[in-house]
Amino acid sequence: MTEEFSRVAMLVAPKRIELRRETPPAASPGGIVIRVRAALTDGTDLKTYRRGHPKMPMPTRFGHEFCGDVAAVGAGVTAFRAGDAVMCVHTAPCGTCYWCLHGQEELCESIMPAMVLGAYSDSLALPKRIVDRNCYRKPVDVSYPEGAFLEPLSCVMHSLAMLAPVAGSTVVVLGNGAFGILHALLLQRRGVDVLLFGRRAQRVAFARELGLESFYTGTVAMRDLILERTEGRGADGVIECTGSPEMWEAAPSHVRRGGTVSFFAGLPGDARVSFLAARLHYDEVRLLAPFHFTPADVRAAFDAIAARTLPLSRLITHRVRLNDIVDAFTRLDAGEGLKALIEP
Ligand SMILES: [Zn+2]
Repeated sequence: MTEEFSRVAMLVAPKRIELRRETPPAASPGGIVIRVRAALTDGTDLKTYRRGHPKMPMPTRFGHEFCGDVAAVGAGVTAFRAGDAVMCVHTAPCGTCYWCLHGQEELCESIMPAMVLGAYSDSLALPKRIVDRNCYRKPVDVSYPEGAFLEPLSCVMHSLAMLAPVAGSTVVVLGNGAFGILHALLLQRRGVDVLLFGRRAQRVAFARELGLESFYTGTVAMRDLILERTEGRGADGVIECTGSPEMWEAAPSHVRRGGTVSFFAGLPGDARVSFLAARLHYDEVRLLAPFHFTPADVRAAFDAIAARTLPLSRLITHRVRLNDIVDAFTRLDAGEGLKALIEP
């Protein structure tokens, strides 16, 4: 019944989603069409839902974490066939621009303009560049919802590739949303001593259930605790996952001399932050700001999912059918849960 049309969730105004019926997309040369089996929400989608997105005029399709089956392949596709279960991300670098040729594919000049949005739908067409670089056959023991973690995990892999934490070091993660928790889980598996801070008590308890050392910023003196845990030095690294200017500005005070601060969560385009110059110069505190990911990061994320050592399904706090997508966003908007699973 969904063969004759494809349902797609359109954000028509802030906090207003309409489910529309469209002619199913066709596969472009070298491209594929995915029949979506699982899509996940993330913080960017929630922000878009609340106030729209500066680069996506409404009405807009949205959603970019998905997993599904190949419904059709375009001319020249040999790596995949109709019926294959696949894990893909929604972008891929061009491979020919200045940045692609200089090892910074995450900054490819067309990676963002060419991204594919619309995971909250029955089907999604992916272009050749994504099929060639960033699609994998889904292992049978990985579920579709787990497979949909490929994109968020790719972001985290890029972040960790830049930070390059060493086993035995102490890293502070600020913010206990899905990205903070994913960072903490991966760091912990690399032998890093991770301290996860957040201001939602419920999520602190949840992170502890996952085996993480998690603290509620409402009751714990963050700086004292960090100093106590590092013989008074400060943390080796801090990863900022809250996206608040106050947390950005405070982050350098949590690392030791020679430590590294990584700003994972972005701020609005016109935001400015300031830091104490002496901390950066005399204390050699390094600042990083990882953005997006490269095909190598996607590969690392695929390997991590295929290894099945991360409790990914537990990060999904509610699931709804595509027809009830409004319910999922209403609950997330009210601050409930972590990630919602949308199943066509
Ligand atoms: Zn490029």
